[in-house]
Amino acid sequence: MTPILELANVSKRFGGIQAVKDASFSVGQGEILGLIGPNGAGKTTAFNMIAGFFKPDTGTIRLEGKDIAGKKPWEICEAGIGRTFQLSKPFGDLTVVENLMVGGFARNRDRRVNREKAEEMSAFLGMAAKRNIEANNLTAFDRRKLELGRALCTEPKLLLMDEVVAGATPSEAGEMVELVLKVRARGISILIVEHVMKVIMSLSDRVVVLDYGEMIASGPPKEVVSQPAVLKAYFGER
Ligand code: ATP
Repeated sequence: MTPILELANVSKRFGGIQAVKDASFSVGQGEILGLIGPNGAGKTTAFNMIAGFFKPDTGTIRLEGKDIAGKKPWEICEAGIGRTFQLSKPFGDLTVVENLMVGGFARNRDRRVNREKAEEMSAFLGMAAKRNIEANNLTAFDRRKLELGRALCTEPKLLLMDEVVAGATPSEAGEMVELVLKVRARGISILIVEHVMKVIMSLSDRVVVLDYGEMIASGPPKEVVSQPAVLKAYFGER
């Protein structure tokens, strides 16, 4: 599979903590890759380096062959990487459509085009009926979907999704899984960090497992989760 994103020997240290150590993995074109591991394993740090929030100490991060390591978040967005955050932070006093337009402005300054795109996105999210509701008045799950939509409006080739079903009910989680599959069907590659195993198992083509910043396994989810090193990382003595 041709990679869209390739990390090679990427490391990041915060003082005495080696948050990510020599990580090398790739996301294929059209692939959904799950990045998993126990708390503090380095998943968010890896995300933040890919999205330009932290500069790696060492290593390269290539998007379609071009090194993007150390570029600023808006440059990374322009290059074609969108992201959602663990805590969704829409503009509370803007409506659903207005929030989606904020994403669209990253690509296109034309207000009319952006509004049209935002209206379409609200329908894609299943939120057409809520398009004029202020984000403050949405449920937590709707705010999460809005966060996803805002990232999609930046027209990413690769989407980074951080814990999209945290706090969701089982039926909401199921709805999010369907939505993520619909995003992939649009040709967007996805790197997803998620603690809910059921979601990871049903979405990921492959998973990469981090533990104490190091990659300890990678492969199809069913094979990886039964590997002794992975079981030890999750359930073994620390
Ligand atoms: P979780 O699943 O709990 O979100 P994670 O796998 O995303 O965890 P990270 O948040 O990347 O893990 O953290 C990896 C390590 O780096 C942890 O020990 C954390 O305390 C540390 N760390 C992360 N960000 C910083 C920072 N800005 N300054 C100092 N240490 C940090």
